[in-house]
Amino acid sequence: MYTDSLMLPLAERMKQADALLAPYAVPHEGMLGRSVKEPEDETRFPFQRDRDRIIHTQSFRRLKGKTQVFVAGGSDHVRTRLTHTMEVAQISRDIARTLGLNEDLAECIALAHDLGHPPFGHTGEEALNVFMTKHGAHFEHNEQSLRIVTVLEEHSSLFAGLNLNREVLEGLKKHQTPHDAPADVLLPPGTSLEAHVVNLADEIAYTAHDCDDGLGAKLFSFKAIQRIPLAREAAERSKARGTSLRGSLIHLLVTDLYATTENFLASQAIRTVQDVVHTSRPLAHFSAAMEQKLAQLRSFLWDHLYMSSPVQACNEKGRNTVTQLCAAFEKDPPPKVKELRQKTQGTLPEAIKDYVAGMTDAYALRQAQEFHLMTGLGAPPDAPEEP
Ligand code: MG
Repeated sequence: MYTDSLMLPLAERMKQADALLAPYAVPHEGMLGRSVKEPEDETRFPFQRDRDRIIHTQSFRRLKGKTQVFVAGGSDHVRTRLTHTMEVAQISRDIARTLGLNEDLAECIALAHDLGHPPFGHTGEEALNVFMTKHGAHFEHNEQSLRIVTVLEEHSSLFAGLNLNREVLEGLKKHQTPHDAPADVLLPPGTSLEAHVVNLADEIAYTAHDCDDGLGAKLFSFKAIQRIPLAREAAERSKARGTSLRGSLIHLLVTDLYATTENFLASQAIRTVQDVVHTSRPLAHFSAAMEQKLAQLRSFLWDHLYMSSPVQACNEKGRNTVTQLCAAFEKDPPPKVKELRQKTQGTLPEAIKDYVAGMTDAYALRQAQEFHLMTGLGAPPDAPEEP
């Protein structure tokens, strides 16, 4: 049929895009739908709309001011939660595309995976967990990411949260890395391969960029990290090509992941998306040899980066800030906490947790100053030199 427009109808474009997916990928139209039914968009696929909703939230913009490992502000070049998130999204998209998975869904899960991360990295998370445990609850950043997109952020006055497709929400629930939970954890049924892939992309991204940031901050030398077999292998590849250690690490990890995952899917007779959602074992894997090499590198980074005294000093100050802000807000809840409590109809500690978890590092520090809290905070010590 002749038409003035060169643009194919959405349904036709979706059909064409679906034809390029592996049979175990989540199709572009999705399978589980949204909690509140909405009319289809004229031009974007369902997961593309979800991606746009995530990117346009305030929570997403605040990721730029949240620490990844160092207290943000020490250097302009170290990763923040925002740049980490973008690196995870890039690696997730690449893996999804290569394995014939749904790139848009993987991107959504990656972009939203750290929205719930509080200021000051994992120390901020621990401090909030201590606060919530005192009140008979707990805090965990993956759950908070889910709460942000289902309750706290707004898209329409017609529903709470962003009303994302359920595959994205399931992907956030199942987001687990060795950093977050034991590696041998079983996944409840319903997890897409796209979600499995994002978990590993997260691990690939932080391992590679933490090497970069640790070297940039001179917390260890290039020579020292090459004592670790995986870093040595990456360094040899980098040297031959004149490129970065980071890039070679990512290359070694993703290529291992492709081969291992493809073989594993075949060995488990995973042929359809139904086969994927009915299995409780993680389906995307590194090889056993790579797992071992990766563990050695993680252990090196643990000793020389996360446990290093400049990082620990920043962590301590972050922990004090979060702890004291929670205590101060409990005594005298600021208007924003009252507003959040009203909106969510929850408890006071929950509203405090939602407020503090949403803060950037700098905002938390300013609040601490305003409340005259003694957090021992000053300029970050030993600001690393620019590479
Ligand atoms: Mg992450």
